[in-house]
Amino acid sequence: MIVERVSVLGTVTMSLRRASGLRLAADVVAGTAVSPFDNSAMDGYAIRSTDFSSNHGISGAPSAPSAPVVLRFSGETAAGDPPGPPLAPSSARAVMTGAPVPPGADAVVQVEWTERVSESEVRILKPVSAGAHIRRAGSDIAAGSIPLRRGHLLRAFEEGVLASLGVEFIAVQRSPVAWFIPTGNELTAPGKPLGPGKIRDANSSLVTELLRSEGCEVRSAPITPDDKQLLSDAIAAGGDCDLLVTTGGVSIGRYDTVPEVLTAAGVEIVFHRVNIKPGMPVLFGMRGDVPFFSLPGNPVSAAVTFLQFVRPAIRKMSGDPDPLRRECVRARLAGRIVKQDGKRHYLRGRLEMVDGEPVARVLGAQESNIGSSLAGANCLVIVPEDRKEIAESEYVEVETL
Ligand code: AMP
Ligand code: MG
Repeated sequence: MIVERVSVLGTVTMSLRRASGLRLAADVVAGTAVSPFDNSAMDGYAIRSTDFSSNHGISGAPSAPSAPVVLRFSGETAAGDPPGPPLAPSSARAVMTGAPVPPGADAVVQVEWTERVSESEVRILKPVSAGAHIRRAGSDIAAGSIPLRRGHLLRAFEEGVLASLGVEFIAVQRSPVAWFIPTGNELTAPGKPLGPGKIRDANSSLVTELLRSEGCEVRSAPITPDDKQLLSDAIAAGGDCDLLVTTGGVSIGRYDTVPEVLTAAGVEIVFHRVNIKPGMPVLFGMRGDVPFFSLPGNPVSAAVTFLQFVRPAIRKMSGDPDPLRRECVRARLAGRIVKQDGKRHYLRGRLEMVDGEPVARVLGAQESNIGSSLAGANCLVIVPEDRKEIAESEYVEVETL
């Protein structure tokens, strides 16, 4: 329902150096070949492979290549030098790795198979065949080919490939600007004194970092009390952001004002409450093109619902061709899980290799108020709706974090 409703944002052109974490807005067509010229794969000598047979062969008849042969030394070409004059027959040019192969040469003999016999002569100890140790122009990327397609995520590796093509600026999909509102009368920002009945606001750190790690530019409202007018003002202050996320106040308690305020602000509520634990009260709505997510206030619930619902929306908006992709593995369960309800559970866990096999274990207490078990978790162990018990060593689906 989410990925059907949200749309891919526009594209922007920026310097390649800044585009890390974004996705290509268009196919990349190689404007040049990589490498741009035939070059040596070895430190050695560029030669003509026919010199192995013509020096020794019986005149007129093709003969098997043989060595050693002694060739005239014809200077040196290092990486970065121009290719130099054509290589005359019966001669050898010293070439370094990456140096252009001179015209006329068709193979390189590695330096270990050679002896410099004098100022003017080189002995080649073993024959090589045509093409040996030459990296052809375009052997990495041919000019006109498409090394990367639209939607491809730019990481260090892709940026290296694009830089090898000489790309300085690149058109990428824009990622969302997100507006985050932490709600709750009880919340106190770090650094402020903690009054009676108050707790620290964990979600401003947790959720904004999750948003950022998915590529969003994040702007946050200050802590907003459970007050309809103030919440409505905080929503309005989000201005023209691409995505809005709130935490807290979305259940059915007396001060859970978020759904009502969203509706009054013109948000069409697409779903509210999902059969999962933690995070059941989660709400998703749309106002125009802008998705609104109201996550429950417990940090654990906020984290789980962010990953299951907000992340696919961000991915879709950022041009990810597979926004519903989940990084899941099947692992053996260490310990046993018992549950009473018919909800799908997401349990904070630790996934490790034991005797060459992935094994998952659930971390400590799993009530949704136990936020500390998020620290150190590297996976969510998923217990399907219809299961009441999972036995020790049974396979479970695990989503890696
Ligand atoms: P709510 O979703 O408003 O019903 O809140 C559920 C629980 O999460 C309550 O115990 C809240 O005090 C707690 N909570 C709400 N927001 C935050 C937050 N930003 N940081 C830490 N705990 C929170
Ligand atoms: Mg509340």
